[in-house]
Amino acid sequence: MLLVLGKNNGRFPYSHSILILDEETVLMDTGCGVETLKQLKREYDVSYVINSHTHPDHSAGNWVFNDRPIHVPEEGFDTSGDMMILSERFVGKKLAQTWQKFAKDIMEFKNCKPTNSYNRRTTFNFGKTTLKPIYTPGHTRDHYCFYEQRERILFSSDYDLTSFPWYGHRESNILEFRESVKKLKALAPKVVVSSHRGIITQNINAEFDQFDARIDERNEKILSLLESEKTVDQLVECAPIYGAFPYAKPLLRYWEGQMIQKHLEHLEIDGKVKRLKKSGFIRIVGNEN
Ligand SMILES: [Zn+2]
Repeated sequence: MLLVLGKNNGRFPYSHSILILDEETVLMDTGCGVETLKQLKREYDVSYVINSHTHPDHSAGNWVFNDRPIHVPEEGFDTSGDMMILSERFVGKKLAQTWQKFAKDIMEFKNCKPTNSYNRRTTFNFGKTTLKPIYTPGHTRDHYCFYEQRERILFSSDYDLTSFPWYGHRESNILEFRESVKKLKALAPKVVVSSHRGIITQNINAEFDQFDARIDERNEKILSLLESEKTVDQLVECAPIYGAFPYAKPLLRYWEGQMIQKHLEHLEIDGKVKRLKKSGFIRIVGNEN
């Protein structure tokens, strides 16, 4: 198995890929940059491609392998590789064109229809190696991780153990995200291969806990901003999640807003914030459980 280092050290809008070298040569994810993919194609006879989910930082370069089978999650099969449909799915109609431009110009995304779908009943057999897809929604509704049971290697994809757990789409869900983290931690992997951080072998339990704890820290940050009333737009200005919007501003601001709204929904249910008539929110004091 080879870790194929992604452009920008695997940070968004790129990610690391994995090349499985067994009786079959299989490439997992194609967001490492088109130059690298073309080089891989020259040097290896890739049998097929698997995508962990439909985000373009994991699938933008599928087109480089458009003469090979491309396996994508069942839940994303209808939208995968179609720029128009994906843009509306990920950012809605209003920002669709901005997203398309970003995917095309920065990630070198080109339309490429997948050929096969997999689901949680699938087992990928490469020869000596076997990988089980693990359905892990929350990040997107079509997100899968992969587990190699013999060596206990987890390909955690975007449950990436960075300081930035991400759930910024309408289809993203904080509760599902946390359930997925729990599910992965319970596998007790010896090695985690993260799409944006690479190989992790130390303190894996603590790493999962820290990753999950970031979500509570965001709740606290949002609560502290609501000492005085604020609307979602005003909260977005404060950027409690992204911190700043250094590029692709409209897109990052949109995702910031989506994530803030998901936090607010939970904080409201927990009785920690109150929705005010003028569409603002305020912290409820004296209700600390
Ligand atoms: Zn993703």
